[in-house]
Amino acid sequence: MSSSPIDIPFATFVVGSLPRPAWVRDLIDDRIVGDISESDAGRLLDDAIPDAIRMQERAGLDYVSDGEWRRESYVKIFAEAVDGFERDLIAGGSSGFSTLAYPAVVKSIASKRPIAADEARFLRTRTESRITVAVPSPYTIARRMWSAEHSRAAYSTREHFMEACIPIIRSELHDLVDAGVDAVQLDDPWLALLVDPEYRRSEGIDDIEREIDMSVRSVNPAVEGLNNAFVSVHLCHAHFNRRHNTKGPYDLIIGALGRMNVQRFAMELATQDAGGVEALAGFPDDKILGLGVIDHTDTSVESPALVVERVERAMQYVPAERITLNPDCGFAPSSANPMDLDEAYLKLKSMTRAAGMLRDRYS
Ligand SMILES: [Zn+2]
Repeated sequence: MSSSPIDIPFATFVVGSLPRPAWVRDLIDDRIVGDISESDAGRLLDDAIPDAIRMQERAGLDYVSDGEWRRESYVKIFAEAVDGFERDLIAGGSSGFSTLAYPAVVKSIASKRPIAADEARFLRTRTESRITVAVPSPYTIARRMWSAEHSRAAYSTREHFMEACIPIIRSELHDLVDAGVDAVQLDDPWLALLVDPEYRRSEGIDDIEREIDMSVRSVNPAVEGLNNAFVSVHLCHAHFNRRHNTKGPYDLIIGALGRMNVQRFAMELATQDAGGVEALAGFPDDKILGLGVIDHTDTSVESPALVVERVERAMQYVPAERITLNPDCGFAPSSANPMDLDEAYLKLKSMTRAAGMLRDRYS
């Protein structure tokens, strides 16, 4: 795969999701329980999503998303588009982190409809801006939706299930590129969660290298054949209701990023829970950094000067020409995550103002 250098200095991206207005959250809930049909809900979302797009354009972003407003969760979209899952079999996060329940794979999987390509085509027709669309990585899907209790009959190991997910994600990524998505992204928070020893204990993970290797082996075949497409991987510590699920610096996993055949890593780094930018000393020198500069768990809106300071701290480790800016994570990776839309707008605006200041100073 050839690399696609970013042609805008300090380009600004969203990670994907934006907080949903309360009526959109209700709409998703009503769709889940069947109080409104998929198609009626879809038409209402067609009306709502252009607001999410305009908001990002007004905030001054270079790459916009559809806010992922159609999605109940960034990872469940896979189970909704693919046959073989049963709802609500797996409890949410550890220690009451989130009340969401997740589907488990219970049968051989088979694609039934696009995961995100329809969303992408809609977004493409509603904006002239560059667009970004994310799908979950096979590793994260396999960690989240395979369970020994429910899934062994279909896939004897988590790894077998992950391998079955890869061709489906690969085909979806090709469809996203064909739909005109400028920056496709694989969300792999479950790789970053590994940095937290408490989390590893709670999940019974004692061979971290094996897990890292699985993540790399899920990304590389998934992005095969995408040629010049611009591909990012997103890493974060997972959050719900302004709390992170895990904590810790990226030291254990940062070396492995160089083995992934993608151009950019959008990493959570503004929050103290991510352990500081010092880990970037190990960031691969042929990759673009998506530097997390906005802490969505903090209700106060960062000033542009504070964002500039965060970028300049990272520039001690990664040169300016390989730095792009993004919030730490999607603001609301699940529709249940109670986050504030206006606050997100103000934070994004601060980020793009900071990018303008950085361009004046360094390019
Ligand atoms: Zn994230």
